[in-house]
Amino acid sequence: MESYSVYIHIPYCKKKCRYCNFLSTAHEVKDIDTYIDAMKSELKLYRPFLSNREIKSIFIGGGTPSLLEPEQLKQIIAAISLSLTIKDNIEITIEANPESISAEKLKAMHNLGINRLSIGLQSFDDNVLKSLGRLHNTDSSFAAIEKARSAGFKNINVDVIYGIPSQDITKELNGIKAVKPEHVSFYYLTIEQGTPLSFDKIFKPLNDDAFQELYLKIHEEMVNTGYEHYEVSNFAKKGFQSVHNMNYWQRGDYLGIGSGAHGFFKTGLPWIGMTAQARYENAYPPSAYTEKVLNNDGKTFPISRVEVLDTDAETLEHIFLSLRTWQGIDTELVKNKTLMKHLTDDGLIKIQDNKLSLTVKGMCVMDGIVTELF
Ligand code: SF4
Repeated sequence: MESYSVYIHIPYCKKKCRYCNFLSTAHEVKDIDTYIDAMKSELKLYRPFLSNREIKSIFIGGGTPSLLEPEQLKQIIAAISLSLTIKDNIEITIEANPESISAEKLKAMHNLGINRLSIGLQSFDDNVLKSLGRLHNTDSSFAAIEKARSAGFKNINVDVIYGIPSQDITKELNGIKAVKPEHVSFYYLTIEQGTPLSFDKIFKPLNDDAFQELYLKIHEEMVNTGYEHYEVSNFAKKGFQSVHNMNYWQRGDYLGIGSGAHGFFKTGLPWIGMTAQARYENAYPPSAYTEKVLNNDGKTFPISRVEVLDTDAETLEHIFLSLRTWQGIDTELVKNKTLMKHLTDDGLIKIQDNKLSLTVKGMCVMDGIVTELF
């Protein structure tokens, strides 16, 4: 049976962080129950179309899904299994922030079958956390990991942001060594227009040399600590690569449920009469989404935008996504073979068994390499 992944979007946060431009709001938190009802209706709409396929991973992201009560999470997971078919023993991830997880909540999540916890620690430095507008501090980060371990979580990811002025990367790396997560996502701080951070004069992007130095240091320390650098921003202990994210990078199909969620199906979107491969995006904000799903007797797909991918777009996307991972891409796809030789000599790419992949140095200049080679 062909498989696919499911992404559930919970677009609520207690307060917006200073750098955040994700689809999340701190204004509609009271309406979570209505929102969950809308997601249940949305899931039901897919039942006739996906009855011959099964789910290989579920990711509950946000926003801050750990704001939800266990009963609300239970309803979501029950609704998925009622409407769709879930493979046995799949990866089920939830994103959590340290300030919104208690020992009881973590135990309840684990009992629901959620087996991977992705914690937004972001930094092991209280001053950095404050400058980002985060609601937690380092003590609560350590406590969150401890509680998660006691609750039974054996697969924990932590998110860390780097590229922040005055940040000491050694402190961050030591923090990771202390909490020993199975997976770490290192995200470079992007200063998004219109966020409070973009008006703060201290926050400026690093120059290329400083960025490269930082990136190489992170790579070196993480690999020496026993992590595999398996994707541009992601490190995992052996056997702990994220099934869900690998599906994105391998261009696997995924269903996006909830306000602002994205989905992608190579086989098209037959539920709205489309046969070409396409990506879709659901209505946002949550009030627009719930209105679309719950009005009209729960018969309307809450899709607000569709992007059809032609062959060129598909190839380019395949190249970009494959090069993000260490699996790389077939050398057959490379147009500029002379440049391929030069880049190999310069240590930016490596070729093995007719597969081209980026070296860690190459990952720092990935966009330029892709544009020139293909
Ligand atoms: S917790 Fe995450 S989604 Fe929520 S405001 Fe902060 S960065 Fe944005």
